[in-house]
Amino acid sequence: MGAESHKAKNNLEKGDWSIESSEKYYGLKNWGKGHFKIDGDGFLKVHPLLDSKGIRIFDIIKEAKSKGYDLPLTIRIQDLLQTRVKELNETFLDAIKQEGYSGSYQGVFPIKVNQMREVLEEILEAGEAYNYGLECGSKPELMIALAHHKNLNSLIICNGYKDDTFIRLALYGNRIGKSVFLVVEQLSEIQRIIRISKELGIQPKIGFRIKLSTVGEGKWARSSGEEAKFGLTSPEIVDAAKNLEEAGLANSLELIHFHVGSQVPNIQTIKRATVEATRYYCELASMGFPMKYLDLGGGLGVDYDGSMSNFESSMNYTLKEYARDVVYNIQAICKEASVTCPDIITESGRSVVASHSLLITEVCDKISKHSIKPNFNKDQQVPIVESFISILKNDYSASPLERYHDAIQKKEEADNLFNLGYLKLKDKGLVDAIFWKICQDVVLFYQEAKIQPEEMDSLKTMMADQYVCNFSVFQSLIDHWACDQLFPIAPIHRLNEQPTVNTTLVDITCDSEGRIASFVDSEDERSLLRLHEMNSDEPYYLGFFLMGAYQDIMGDLHNLFGRVNEVHVFLEDDEEDGFYIEDSIPGFSVNEVLKLTQYDGQMLSRKLKKQIDRATKEDQIKPREGTRILDEYLQVLKSQTYLSESN
Ligand SMILES: *Cc1c(COP(=O)(O)O)cnc(C)c1O
Repeated sequence: MGAESHKAKNNLEKGDWSIESSEKYYGLKNWGKGHFKIDGDGFLKVHPLLDSKGIRIFDIIKEAKSKGYDLPLTIRIQDLLQTRVKELNETFLDAIKQEGYSGSYQGVFPIKVNQMREVLEEILEAGEAYNYGLECGSKPELMIALAHHKNLNSLIICNGYKDDTFIRLALYGNRIGKSVFLVVEQLSEIQRIIRISKELGIQPKIGFRIKLSTVGEGKWARSSGEEAKFGLTSPEIVDAAKNLEEAGLANSLELIHFHVGSQVPNIQTIKRATVEATRYYCELASMGFPMKYLDLGGGLGVDYDGSMSNFESSMNYTLKEYARDVVYNIQAICKEASVTCPDIITESGRSVVASHSLLITEVCDKISKHSIKPNFNKDQQVPIVESFISILKNDYSASPLERYHDAIQKKEEADNLFNLGYLKLKDKGLVDAIFWKICQDVVLFYQEAKIQPEEMDSLKTMMADQYVCNFSVFQSLIDHWACDQLFPIAPIHRLNEQPTVNTTLVDITCDSEGRIASFVDSEDERSLLRLHEMNSDEPYYLGFFLMGAYQDIMGDLHNLFGRVNEVHVFLEDDEEDGFYIEDSIPGFSVNEVLKLTQYDGQMLSRKLKKQIDRATKEDQIKPREGTRILDEYLQVLKSQTYLSESN
């Protein structure tokens, strides 16, 4: 081996690895934004308040397990939620102060991003001082909003398609003193609102959603632009405004709304959309409507990969820049048009809730091409095996890449021989094992080399171990499967040890799509994640981070795994480890997922019992064994769907 490989090997020495190396490799500082740090013993800690108070995630798992909540486990850090709500509001207040802006900020939380009651309650509590309100897009969400919203100085914004019942509910809200805005998504809603408000004798509060010509970038860009399914075009706005005037409801129109799509990666999109919408606002104000609010919708991004770029899973701006740009642009246009500045509403969901929740799973197995070492003796072997042994021993002093190319050629030959019946299974086994050993040698050689032959990318992926994780991509990481969204993933312990295994991750569903082979990296996307060698004497835990937005509710029941166990964690100074678990919510049991597909646990066990009785009668089993089988079947109905630890 040459000097290059010697150096590469040195880089892998354990002594070189430090906690800082882990911090850098897993990008904790980039996507963690000060909330995730490694302590002196290599454990990952979450710092909900961005100060020195941290909680070891490992300790949370221990505590949850002692209460009977096994992995996979969703952990909600409630104090982190508070921090995010405060940050959003304070940042807007700062920007308003800095710019000498005459309006105020009146944010609302879009319920669809995380509907969990405990999440909503925490957000409302943290937002109370800022008059932070709620946004809803369906009847059930409005039902939640009407009941949970108490602060009459905060708003409820109703987006989405609306039927009569939806509109009546919203108007009842106004009747009991709330400010509930009906945002008109399509022209037909105008007549509906006019009719129902007349019927009930309740004056509506109305907003128009504008179909901007500004189109966003990113995965959810279709929410805006002239082909979007939501919003009114400019002629429709003129028409709708006229309808309101004719109905004597001109003074109901106070709000303009737009939404360019979720996870907007580029600040230029936000600026352009804000300018365009403010023009609409000023025009309607000049026409004499009592305009008061400009609602910018959602779209404020989350830097999932920590790259601070306009890459789809990232964002090239900060919250501070977002707030300042919005405030500045609205003010500039209103000044030009001599219109009083509106109160600013945003409906940021993702940015508020993504970071508070993480999923912990255990790596329960690994699938490896090099777990079986080639085992051969010096005796005569068939020629193809001889050739492989010769490449392995490197009889011809070839370079690693040359050996790899030779091995590929011979592998093709061997596969052909086997298919034609000229190679025995025993020899094929040997050939494949040697082939993978050669590939592995080549991968190791180039591991830390500065210049990588292009072929290494696919070879590395092929040779990587697959770590089998006890969870379902379809339940817990749906956006990764559905639209390739990246989420940060890192071990939550052993971070003072060097990770030496190149891996991709697979879940326990029987679906080949249940896998993860793209990972965050601050410069590019990685196709492999370096993790630690598994030890037989301790479990290996992986954390999936920034999971709090959308994933909870969009996850599905593929393979009938369903919801995972969940614990809600609060900081607590009086506790030795700095936290306590307030709420624990059990994941779905087998019986529950069966019910969701119209099976009934009792019915199933009766059916099985009949068959056991038959087998007993026919003397296939003894009665006592039959009862034991039935008992265990009944036990399983009550148990969790994911792999349990005794297995
Ligand atoms: C989904 C949605 C939001 C939330 O968007 P985020 O990008 O999560 O902030 C806000 N407003 C409307 C109308 C939406 O449809």
